[in-house]
Amino acid sequence: VIFDEAESLEPAALRQLQEERWLRLSEHLAGHAFHGPRLATGAGGLASLGSIPFTRKQDLWDHYPFGLLAIDRRDVRRVHGTSGTKGRPTLASYSARDLELFRNVNARALAGAGAEPGTIVHNGYGYGLFTGGLGLHGGAEALGCCVVPISGGQTARQVTLIVDLRPEVLCCTPSYAVLLGEALQAAGVSPTDNPLKVGIFGAEPWTEEMRRRIEALHGITALDIYGMCEVIGPGVAFECLATRSDLADGRPGGLHVNEDHFFVEVVDPFSDEPVPDGSVGEVVFTTLTRQAQPVVRYRTGDLASLNRTPCACGRTTVRMSRLVGRNDDMLVIRGVNVFPSEIEAAILEMPELAPHYTIVLDVRGDMPEMIVACELATVGDAASHEHASETLSHALSERLGVRATVAVGRPGAIPRTEVGKAVRLVRLDAGSPPLPAELAELVGEAVGLA
Ligand SMILES: [Zn+2]
Repeated sequence: VIFDEAESLEPAALRQLQEERWLRLSEHLAGHAFHGPRLATGAGGLASLGSIPFTRKQDLWDHYPFGLLAIDRRDVRRVHGTSGTKGRPTLASYSARDLELFRNVNARALAGAGAEPGTIVHNGYGYGLFTGGLGLHGGAEALGCCVVPISGGQTARQVTLIVDLRPEVLCCTPSYAVLLGEALQAAGVSPTDNPLKVGIFGAEPWTEEMRRRIEALHGITALDIYGMCEVIGPGVAFECLATRSDLADGRPGGLHVNEDHFFVEVVDPFSDEPVPDGSVGEVVFTTLTRQAQPVVRYRTGDLASLNRTPCACGRTTVRMSRLVGRNDDMLVIRGVNVFPSEIEAAILEMPELAPHYTIVLDVRGDMPEMIVACELATVGDAASHEHASETLSHALSERLGVRATVAVGRPGAIPRTEVGKAVRLVRLDAGSPPLPAELAELVGEAVGLA
């Protein structure tokens, strides 16, 4: 079921709606200290958007906390933000109407996953400043679902609630979905007994290989949801069930962008020029309807491509591919460019390895080195550790052309993240690798530090 008729407009009608909203936004921002002078260069409708300068995360930091407000501070109803994994927090403000929009786009995502009024939604996203918990929560209520606002953590309790309440929809980070799936299995809930039917996972980059692992663990269909607080939070774009079938059949698929609210461009991250549909570039959003803190041409740092082929679900909105990676996550190892997602894919292609890992970029020496720490899926002897380690080293050098120090620990060796986003990539500037003793020892032996 499609939640909002705006999702299935004819292209011409959608464009007209976008133009009207852009005009209104331009008027709203005309006298704004930051946006006003920038927008003066783009007074020719959306076709002239390309002449307006990009907005970057740095601009949000420079105007922290309320410098980019486009409404009276007293009309702000909520602030959300990121914890600032790379330093300062990024804050976003919401008006009452922005919050209504936030609920609406999350209701769209839940409906796209097959949720209906009355469906029980187990919401394991963190509640708080992070947009995940309250975002999906508001969407579920707007759709008429029954939300279980469990938030992150307390895994044993989550297992009990899933068994007792029999929710059909799970919302959480992909890494937590793995943890919860393992906990359910350990509690004797097999994928066929698991009441969940579909999961909506986001807030962390994850691969197709990880999707298949999660689907097998829970016996569900796993769908991707995309967003960030600078734009709105989750609900900027989402996968529908038809898109999942597209992917299974080898078609490009992708996440429906709610482009009646979030105008999307994909640009070459180096030349800043638009790239054609189907080509990978950096995703750029303009929030057409946000009041409190709109962004114009916001550079997300996320790399993806657009797909305008019609979707079987009936939504006419453009679809963006799952993220290929982030500009700033790209590792350069001895001149070879590698995305962490490619490493995840190599790990998950080996059924003997569990879907838990840590990548350490070791920049202590002159040349950056990479350490990949992971663990066996089931208890094994010394030979199986060695075999898995050699197989993964070989796969990384064959597939990615990089040499990495690989450490394969026992099941459970990699620390789990119960609340918030899993930290899978660590930069090591000084000291010793931030790994549990068992893995650090393996790494030490391998690089001769022990
Ligand atoms: Zn669709």
